[in-house]
Amino acid sequence: MQFTDLHLHSTFSCLDAWGLPKQILKRAKDLGRKTIAVTDHASISGYVQFSKVCKDNNIKMIYGIEPYMVNSISSMFENKERKKNHITLLAENEKGYKNILKLASEAYNNFYYYPTIDWNLLFDNSEGIILLSGCWGGIVQRLLFERKVDEAEKLIYKIKNVFGDRFYLETQHYTLFNETFKILYALSKKTETPIVLTCDVHFLEKGQAFVQEMLHAIRERRQFDDKLFLEDAYQWNSDDLFSLVKTRFGNEGNLWDKIFDNVNIVSERCNAAILKDIPPKFPFKNKEDSKEELIKLCKSGIISRGLKGGGKVYQERFDRELKVIKEKNFIDYLLIVADLVNWAKTQGILTGAGRGSSSGSLICNLLGITELDPIKHDLLFDRFIDETRSDLPDIDTDFDSDKRDLVKDYAAETFGKNKVCDVVTFARFKGKNSLDETGKMFSIPINVVKIVKDYLFERNEKDERGYETIKDTFQFSKEAQKVAMEYPDILKACFLEGQLRHMGKHAAGIIIGNKPLEETIAVYEKKGRKISSVEMDDAFDLGLIKIDLLGVKVLSILNDIANKIGMKAADIYNIPLTDKKTIKGFQEYDVDGIFQFEGDAAKNVLKQMPKDKIDFDQIAASVALARPGPLQSGSANSYFSVMKENKKVKNLDWHPIIYNITKKTFGQIVYQEQVMKILREFANFSIEDTNKCRKIMGKTEGKQEFEKYYSKFLEGVKDKIDDTKARDIWETIKLSGEYLFNRSHAVAYALLAFQSMYFKQHYPLEFYVSRLNYEDDEEKRLRILLDVSRSGIRILPPQLGKSSVFWKVENNSLRSGLREIKGIGEKTAEKLVSEEYFIRKDFDKNKIKGITQTAFKALDNAHAFLDDIPLQDFFGIYKFNILNKISPERKLLETIKDQNISGSFIVGGIFVKMTIKDILETKRVKGLPTDKVKNPDKSKYAVMILSDETDRCLAFIDRFLFFKIGKKISDAVDNEDFVLIEGTKNMGWNMINIKDIVIYDKKGKVKYG
Ligand SMILES: [Zn+2]
Ligand SMILES: [Zn+2]
Repeated sequence: MQFTDLHLHSTFSCLDAWGLPKQILKRAKDLGRKTIAVTDHASISGYVQFSKVCKDNNIKMIYGIEPYMVNSISSMFENKERKKNHITLLAENEKGYKNILKLASEAYNNFYYYPTIDWNLLFDNSEGIILLSGCWGGIVQRLLFERKVDEAEKLIYKIKNVFGDRFYLETQHYTLFNETFKILYALSKKTETPIVLTCDVHFLEKGQAFVQEMLHAIRERRQFDDKLFLEDAYQWNSDDLFSLVKTRFGNEGNLWDKIFDNVNIVSERCNAAILKDIPPKFPFKNKEDSKEELIKLCKSGIISRGLKGGGKVYQERFDRELKVIKEKNFIDYLLIVADLVNWAKTQGILTGAGRGSSSGSLICNLLGITELDPIKHDLLFDRFIDETRSDLPDIDTDFDSDKRDLVKDYAAETFGKNKVCDVVTFARFKGKNSLDETGKMFSIPINVVKIVKDYLFERNEKDERGYETIKDTFQFSKEAQKVAMEYPDILKACFLEGQLRHMGKHAAGIIIGNKPLEETIAVYEKKGRKISSVEMDDAFDLGLIKIDLLGVKVLSILNDIANKIGMKAADIYNIPLTDKKTIKGFQEYDVDGIFQFEGDAAKNVLKQMPKDKIDFDQIAASVALARPGPLQSGSANSYFSVMKENKKVKNLDWHPIIYNITKKTFGQIVYQEQVMKILREFANFSIEDTNKCRKIMGKTEGKQEFEKYYSKFLEGVKDKIDDTKARDIWETIKLSGEYLFNRSHAVAYALLAFQSMYFKQHYPLEFYVSRLNYEDDEEKRLRILLDVSRSGIRILPPQLGKSSVFWKVENNSLRSGLREIKGIGEKTAEKLVSEEYFIRKDFDKNKIKGITQTAFKALDNAHAFLDDIPLQDFFGIYKFNILNKISPERKLLETIKDQNISGSFIVGGIFVKMTIKDILETKRVKGLPTDKVKNPDKSKYAVMILSDETDRCLAFIDRFLFFKIGKKISDAVDNEDFVLIEGTKNMGWNMINIKDIVIYDKKGKVKYG
């Protein structure tokens, strides 16, 4: 017997149902279903993905939704009505599909606890829709439960009047329908309305009801309760279902045979298909030709980029790119992106250099989309457009995040408001938060959950096992298995991982359609902005174009500094990449606050490089090397040793072609592009094969796939080198493949780092002000302050009458903004700045509206009323008081002991005594001569003992961070010195890890740091 689930929910009914499209389709296939309907709660967001897997499985898809119903939307809002009914809607044809899109949009526009529609909306958009009366919370069923049979009958006639033969009464197989079913059946006969059976599917199989309850528990923020399930709401086997309902409800007059027939009738009636758009053309005001326009723009690009007479290389590259771009039909797309970027530039909005693979395109550079000359920087076009695929290339366009909405508005103006919108994104459960949630609802102690979390290895979402990390953890970790023995419920977390959690807005994306978007997708209106119902990739599959307008903080900072020093935003790209002072900044590791170099890893990579060799190219290399892959595999290390010792590298000996490809990186393969070049130029691979290799190279399970190309490689190189060498090169490529960075990224990042460093070295005051004002993370802000104090720039405390809201430059010093005071928000600070007379402590606070007692106290605590701050404030010590509630007189040890300081901290104070012992010394004490101590630089920590009369504390200093710390600090420190420490306290107060340390003498001069 054939059965179709006409009422089925997936994970797109967020936190109500379980199952990704492929999981649901696998079950449907196993059950031998020919057709499946998808009816998520007022959501069409799953349509694209479902239609794809349905097609793959040769199963017909019915497009439906289950919105929430009220009698009237306006009275719902007026009376704050929360009670809602359900209703099941299926698209019979194209008109019905469009109406469903319309209703899904309206349901979200009328969101009140749930996406809701009313009878007027439904009746006005009823054409082509088949209506089922819903689940046990449905419009008719609800009335029957309440024994309002007459009302139910009236409603049935009311619907019939509009929907006619497109109306079916819906029933389910649950025992709770035993009573009401009889009435429903009677009404069906009386009103001549056929009945269909649905399972209101919320999960896949028998025994999985707990999953739905888990989702509900999360939604309602409560404990798991096993009395709250509907056990039977899964995809049933047809025969089991048939015999179940016959026994449960009786089969008088072959009643159930008819009902099953009705299901098949509905299933056959619904024949809507997904509606697609085509990518929009560039919206010329007059009739113009896109290709001509592109060439015209590129020609002026050649002049403005100073490439006139660039020679044959440029011409050939241009011709090749144009050919590919034209063949792939990407001309309009590039023109659209270029138009947005160039408009932004005319508005003084800083745009990025082109972070992604688009930097590999000369045409993108000429159009003004990117700022890097791909030929000069050795970037590949093939990395940008994969000729073997039809997807639009990814252009990551970065904008000053403060002004991104302006660019979006411009796009809406250019294309029409109904053709452009923001993009929805769904948050998905990841490994760690699935474990947390499961732990919470089953009362598993936090420290137990943590054990499992510690063994969990998060993967990239695009990784095939990206959403199986919990499964993997329990499979491979003995510790995790032990936990599962004691708390078996924790295994249920596996079910959460990968499911959708809630809907959000993609920060950067917009989509643009050729037709009004409402004809292709549902569009929601939220706070005056339009948002799509489908995610970026799905929008692309529907023929819409997606553009990432990424907002990048570093661009806002650069833009802000440029404004302050009177430089035009666009001129940032004219900063010479050989600027001595800037390079010196990197050579001296003055990288705090510098984009991409803030972490310890990048700083250490620089430290490993010989200073005289650090230039722009090596800065780019640092970006690529300062990542876990190259650091752990040792490839970074061999890079440094070759760099330092000018050691001959065997790779360079292999062949002149390899020599050329790898000479800038000392014979090492650092970038994906190098592998691509070796495959193409050295082994004569086709573009297609090269791209295939690039893609599988990065995947863990790609190794075997990759190996299949070896014979091709051998064939390509046989005239150049012998087999042993060929194998050698192949192995090197294979080994490094997993973690290579792409050069277009590295160079674009390096450029931003370089620009930041340029400002830091030439305009340190403006640099620090912008950096501080744009940093929301308090800990990072303190780190920057530490850096400021080290640079010798005075930090002035927040002070009424002198400070503004934010940080500012004041006579070669930095003046802290009033907002920096704990307890003073931005609004209060603005008020305080505008009230100029308001600088005395004895002001009548009652007269100033908007300044609370708490704010007043905060100001007082921060000494913000004082006209003059005592001079000992050479490192903004009051600033630290405010943030850490310590007084400068307090001893450092006391401060660290303070219970209020936990986790990571920055403290300042005076040392009483400090002794340094490192592992090396300990060994020497044991009688070994220093040179016999093996690998001295491998001892990871030095131990610093901080002590005073009463107590002592062990501070661990990472040798990797502080090479020569040993005696240096203990010699430097004097018991009147002021010491600033940044660190973490993890195992009780008397054991701390030091991340940074600065020592000042009495006059505020830096002695160490
Ligand atoms: Zn329902
Ligand atoms: Zn339902």
